[in-house]
Amino acid sequence: MIKSPRGTRDLLPPDTALWNFVESTARDVFRAYNFQEIRTPIFESTELFSRGVGEETDIVSKEMFTWEDRGRAESDKGQSLTLRPEATAGIVRAYIEHKLADRGLNKLYCIGPMFRRERPQKGRYRQFYQIDAEVIGPPSSGSDSPARDAEILEMLATLLDRLGITDWNLELNSVGCPNDRAKFNEALRAALEPVKDKMCVDCQRRAVTNPLRVFDCKVPEDQPIIEKLPRISHFLDEPCRKHFEEVKQILRAVGVDFHENDRLVRGLDYYTRTAFEFTHGALGAQNAILGGGRYDGLSEALGGPPAPGIGFAIGEDRLVLSLQEKTPAESVLRKPDVYIAPVGAGMNVESARLARELRRTESLVVDLGDESFRLKKSFELATKAGARFILIVGENEVKANAFALKNHATGEQIEVPRADLARRIKGIA
Ligand code: AMP
Repeated sequence: MIKSPRGTRDLLPPDTALWNFVESTARDVFRAYNFQEIRTPIFESTELFSRGVGEETDIVSKEMFTWEDRGRAESDKGQSLTLRPEATAGIVRAYIEHKLADRGLNKLYCIGPMFRRERPQKGRYRQFYQIDAEVIGPPSSGSDSPARDAEILEMLATLLDRLGITDWNLELNSVGCPNDRAKFNEALRAALEPVKDKMCVDCQRRAVTNPLRVFDCKVPEDQPIIEKLPRISHFLDEPCRKHFEEVKQILRAVGVDFHENDRLVRGLDYYTRTAFEFTHGALGAQNAILGGGRYDGLSEALGGPPAPGIGFAIGEDRLVLSLQEKTPAESVLRKPDVYIAPVGAGMNVESARLARELRRTESLVVDLGDESFRLKKSFELATKAGARFILIVGENEVKANAFALKNHATGEQIEVPRADLARRIKGIA
């Protein structure tokens, strides 16, 4: 038997109803904040990610699915391509390539699969899905304003609430600007020097290559050492401190709870100021449902114009996992309103006509049997499908232009003239 590759999975009904519920709710909420959808390719040139995510990150150094194109055209030959491990780099590339700034497009979202070669476990897959949104624009558009940071965070709180996820936790920090971080890195290196040998091997490496990432360490024995390390919050310059204060002030004013967490850092140079994560207790070790932050230097790093931005990526797989506890997929799935049971030769034709009418007039969900089925089998299939009504279509019914309609829950069966069927099934007649 051929199975799906390691770290991938099939999303099956009825779970897909929950995925659709999440996505349609996200689209509705994003629309209310004037975001519009962008769809970028799922593979891009490898260089985009090495420059846009960073050569020294785990994603780029270990986790990308990369191949060399075998195309015959000279322009394709040997080109290194990669399945996208995240969405921001592609969106910023598209923003630069199509000069979206000139069209005033500065609030974009994207929903789709991402790929990372990680060790699979619950909530961690090699193909996973993200719901991603970005505010990006020239400095004159106000895209660097703390009001945008607060707006995005408030939007996320609204989305989670609308989905019925109430027990989330917003962790918030400011990682300052590259200047602040250079000073911070120096202080961190100095503080790590005498203690790093007592830390885990990963931290020993991080202490040399990218000391900020020491804060990502989850090894319990390292925590007392990490607790005593200097924090970025003491290194913020005045504009960064003021920016962070304003984000917090708006959040308090609109009633979005947050926890300041000055261990929350992002190791890349172009990450600036606001950094955040939403966690959810039910998820266990992989408890981050989404992460995001400001990246005021990214556009320039990709060869574009100055375009400060802030964005986030929701891990849709994890969002669905945390939803599943309270909201079973069955509860958001629209079951058939009616199952049509054709009885006898020629009744498939009559049933098809009737089904078309019902689906069109009241947008009913209609499932259809087959004229070769015995009535008992049709009833069984209607039950399996969860149909509310069963409609019997036989020669006598067609002649009388009135049909036997059976309410599945009550067992009640009535004769309904064709003209009243749709409204009767809908429950408005
Ligand atoms: P990141 O792009 O690493 O900031 O991740 C953003 C969000 O995507 C995380 O908070 C997770 O919810 C989700 N995520 C990241 N990697 C994976 C993965 N391998 N499998 C499932 N979800 C993931």
